[in-house]
Amino acid sequence: MGWAIALHGGAGDIPVDLPNDKRAPREATLRRCLDLGVAALTANRSPLDVVELVVRELENCPHFNAGRGSVLTTDGTVEMEASIMDGTTKRCGAVSGLTTVVNPISLARIVMEKTPHIYLAFDGAEAFAREQGLETRDQSYFITEQNIERLKQAKEANRVQIDYTQPQPVKEQVPTSSEGDSQIGTVGCIAVDGNGNLATATSTGGLVNKMVGRIGDTPVIGAGTYANTICAISATGKGESIIRNTIARDVAALMEYRGLSVKEAADLVIANAPEGTVGLVAVTDKGDVAMTFNTTGMFRACATENGHSEISIW
Ligand code: ASP
Repeated sequence: MGWAIALHGGAGDIPVDLPNDKRAPREATLRRCLDLGVAALTANRSPLDVVELVVRELENCPHFNAGRGSVLTTDGTVEMEASIMDGTTKRCGAVSGLTTVVNPISLARIVMEKTPHIYLAFDGAEAFAREQGLETRDQSYFITEQNIERLKQAKEANRVQIDYTQPQPVKEQVPTSSEGDSQIGTVGCIAVDGNGNLATATSTGGLVNKMVGRIGDTPVIGAGTYANTICAISATGKGESIIRNTIARDVAALMEYRGLSVKEAADLVIANAPEGTVGLVAVTDKGDVAMTFNTTGMFRACATENGHSEISIW
C-alpha cells in the first residue's frame, strides 16, 4: 500500500538516435510533471486532481501531441480529445473535436461533474466550454511550426507521419496502409493515493493527417482510458488498434476476473495487440506500477511511495 503515479508522453517507433532537441525537452517535461504530481499526491490532493493537474501541464507543453502542440488534421486544423475517470465511483468524462479549448482534460472533468452525460463532442463541447468559462484560444495558439512541417511531409508521402520518426526521402517511406500509421505523442497520467483511490486521464491531438472528424481511443472509456477500484490505466499508440482490442478495460478485467498482477495483465494484453501499435501505463490500488509497450519506445515516468522513481524512453 502506498501512493504511486505514472505518466506517458506517447509510444511509437522512437529511433534510439532521437536527436537531443527532440529528446531533452520531452524528458525535462516528464521530470517536471512527475515532480508536480508527486508534490500534489504527498500534499494529499485527490488522485483525480493529480491526474488532471499533470495532464494540463503536459497539454501546455508544445513538445507533446495534446493541447498546444496537437498534430494537424488533413485540413490543417487541430481537433483535440481527452478523457478522465475516477476509479472509486467509475464516474468519467470525455471530449472530442475541440478546436479552441486550452485544456481539454479540464473540460472532460467538467463534463463528468456537471452534466448527466459522459461524452461531449465538437460544437456542443465547444459551446459548453465557453458556458463554463474555460480558457480558449484561437487555432494559432495550438499549431506549431513542427506540426505544419509534419503535415506537409505526411501529405507529400500520402501517409500518416509518426511524430518521433526522422524525416526520410519519400521513396524510403513505408506506403500507407488502408488504416494508416498512427501519430504518437499522446499524454496520460494515472495515480493512486495512500488509501487506494485511483484515477486516470489521457489527452491527445490524435494522428497527423487524420480525417476531419476522426475520433481515436483516447476519449473512449475502456479503450485508451479506464479506472476502477483495482487499477487505473492510460494507453497510447494506434487508436484504431487500441479500440479494437479494448486495451485499458482488458487489463482491468484480467486483474478483476482472473486475479492476474498488473504486470502480468499488462504484458498479456500488450502481447496480444498488433506488434508496434500500443503502450500503456497502469497502477493498482496497492501502488504497483506497470509500464509496457510493443513499440520501440514510450516516453514514460513513474514514482512510488516506496522510493522507486524512473524516467525512460526505450
Ligand atoms: N492513441 C492516439 C490516437 O490514436 C495517438 C497516440 O497515442 O499518440 O489518437
